[in-house]
Amino acid sequence: MPVSPYIKSTMTSKSAGVIRKMFEEGLELKKKYGEDKVFDFSIGNPDLEPPEEVFQCIQKLAADRSKNCHGYMPNAGYPSVRAAMAMKTQAEQGVPVGADCVVMSVGAAGALNALFKAIISEGDKVLVSAPFFTEYRHYVKNYGGTLVEVPAREDFSLDVEALAAAMDEHTAAVLINSPNNPTGRIYSEQQIKELAGAMELHARKCGRKPYLVCDEPYRAIAYDGKTVPPVFPVYDSAVVVTSFAKNLSLPGERIGYICVNPACPDRDEVVAACIFTTRILGYVNAPAFFQRVAAETWNAKVDYSLYRERRDLIMEILDEAGIEHIVPEGAFYMWCKAPSVFKGDDMAFCDYLKKYNILSAPGSGFGGKGWIRLAYCVSKESIKNSRAAFVKAVKDLEEAK
Ligand code: PLP
Repeated sequence: MPVSPYIKSTMTSKSAGVIRKMFEEGLELKKKYGEDKVFDFSIGNPDLEPPEEVFQCIQKLAADRSKNCHGYMPNAGYPSVRAAMAMKTQAEQGVPVGADCVVMSVGAAGALNALFKAIISEGDKVLVSAPFFTEYRHYVKNYGGTLVEVPAREDFSLDVEALAAAMDEHTAAVLINSPNNPTGRIYSEQQIKELAGAMELHARKCGRKPYLVCDEPYRAIAYDGKTVPPVFPVYDSAVVVTSFAKNLSLPGERIGYICVNPACPDRDEVVAACIFTTRILGYVNAPAFFQRVAAETWNAKVDYSLYRERRDLIMEILDEAGIEHIVPEGAFYMWCKAPSVFKGDDMAFCDYLKKYNILSAPGSGFGGKGWIRLAYCVSKESIKNSRAAFVKAVKDLEEAK
């Protein structure tokens, strides 16, 4: 058998790759009906261009002919780049952070994989609030761990009591993602404190302290004056993983980092382990060129108010059509409830919307059965044009009753 049975069964399972498949079907539909007749909300690929500072920096660095500037560097990344990421994290977390806490990574996905390889042993568990970014299941499984899905509260905030109840001696980490993909929720300072308190209590009782892993690629994309609260001041064994995929619109450049809380009791060991796992996973180091770009431009900003405008527009359209949704506080995803006629079958709702050339992602893949995700990082024009399709889709449903 040429392919591992596990990979084969995962690849061919109903939910695997459903978002990618939808994206590819979208390309076909666009060929058939024309770009402006297909409303593709399937994938979180930022449509805003990177900031001008990034283009200028790329141009400047491309002219560099200094020796070894495209060569290997230490597996953790360039020391000067680690120092810049430490400065960024310090500003976000409000505590002093040194370059020795940072390991550069191949995006947030590479950061999560290097970290999980470093901290998960066979049989360990990672707890996550559901719904969650669908790839987490694979990332945890890659290292012999199990992702334990703990349903969020009805408003999609953290259910701290349920998370606490799910912790046991096999719990290696609790993984949070704020602003959240797919719900757009930002967890409040109060909730983060409660979670940290519950994890401390568990550690005292059980003798094993889980890491609090904060996946934050959407940190900068927050609306209505909201901010993402820091975790380092409230929990010592916390690790931030992030990237420049969404805030600087650079997903294809695969650049991110891991930052371990300077107060983490086993900080040096975790950092050393992540440096080692970066190497043995075959990443070797984060892309050299974009490490240097990130070091110079991390503070640049895309105009995130354009995403807020898109959010408001799509909410208006969904309200007009009569599709229930939550109000995202950050990121660029809209979490919508499948109308009751679908009886919780989100896949059927996605298939139904496809008939109106609306492409979405079924919530089941995110551990959120009965809901769908619309990625509104698409042009405002496309959102505007989708109005009639959404309205007709729901009207036809009602008429068919
Ligand atoms: N984490 C979350 C919550 C995401 O939504 C994504 C990408 O969509 C990633 C991690 C992976 O990000 P990157 O492209 O930086 O690897």
